[in-house]
Amino acid sequence: MTRNASDIWREDVGDCSHSQVPMPIWYHDIYTTGIHRDSRFPRERYRILKDRIQNSQNSGLIEFMSPECASKEDLLTSHDPDFIRRFLDGELGEKEVNRIGLKPWTDSFVERTLRIMGGSLSALKRVCEFGGISGNMAGGTHHSHAGFGAGYCVFNDIAVCAVKATESLGIARVAILDLDVHQGDGTATMLKDIEGALTISVHCKDNFPFRKAISDHDFPLNSGVGDVGYLEKVSECLEILEDYAPDLLLFQAGVDSLEKDGLGKMNVTRGGMRARNRMVFSYLVEKSLPCVIFMGGGYAKPISHTIDAFYDLFIDGAVANSYIQRGNKSKSRKQANGGV
Ligand SMILES: [Zn+2]
Repeated sequence: MTRNASDIWREDVGDCSHSQVPMPIWYHDIYTTGIHRDSRFPRERYRILKDRIQNSQNSGLIEFMSPECASKEDLLTSHDPDFIRRFLDGELGEKEVNRIGLKPWTDSFVERTLRIMGGSLSALKRVCEFGGISGNMAGGTHHSHAGFGAGYCVFNDIAVCAVKATESLGIARVAILDLDVHQGDGTATMLKDIEGALTISVHCKDNFPFRKAISDHDFPLNSGVGDVGYLEKVSECLEILEDYAPDLLLFQAGVDSLEKDGLGKMNVTRGGMRARNRMVFSYLVEKSLPCVIFMGGGYAKPISHTIDAFYDLFIDGAVANSYIQRGNKSKSRKQANGGV
């Protein structure tokens, strides 16, 4: 069966629930409650988004999974042992804590951090074993470096997943597509010497981090670029992926490029953001490529604009996953019957 990827968006999402295969998403209430209520970070977005999905007509498209805490060994694959120990023991200095943000820290902040890392790793293991798309309804902590955290990021779940995938999950080539409005500086730096990992970042050049790292492919865009200029670069990213032919995609799908975002400056509409996601998901369907979605940033005021964009992201991801999984099933049926 040849699937035309662009056809999948013609199907009404609400009508395909009878035949869909749900997409696993790792989520825990601690993603919200582990951040202090007085923090400037919009902590409620996780819980509101989960409720929004569960109360929608598309709830059957997504299966919520509860994350375990990542182990120290998982973190040691990519992070500096002294940084890990001092974070876990509550010994980071004031400057280091300020650089991470999310203050004031709660008693459950360490557990929250480890569960987010665990959610990303479980999503990774799922797609490496069963294919398709899965996600973490948090994470995408791309500003974290090997020896320090920054910009709301403690440990870098994308880098840890990339290393885990290539070192122990049989992945030869992993691509990281980072479409958050902020550059994936930590990911680029941590993966620069990892064989089989390709980093791509589309971001606003006038935004944090002000000292940019060097990804394998960087697309710095001007403030106010809007849908057309933004989607052109996404299209170029897909050409790079076409040439690289990865076995796995790690998709940092932050929605802070939205015109309503408080930090983004890029002026992309909700429709533009949805078009972006569908371009990526259509590529995945075409290639039957396994993918993990990392939630990334989103800081609109009111937060409802961010929630809308993340709702679109996860529902469209789930539709694409269902297509891929149904295709995989039909392939294995043919193989079992001696076909090709
Ligand atoms: Zn961001």
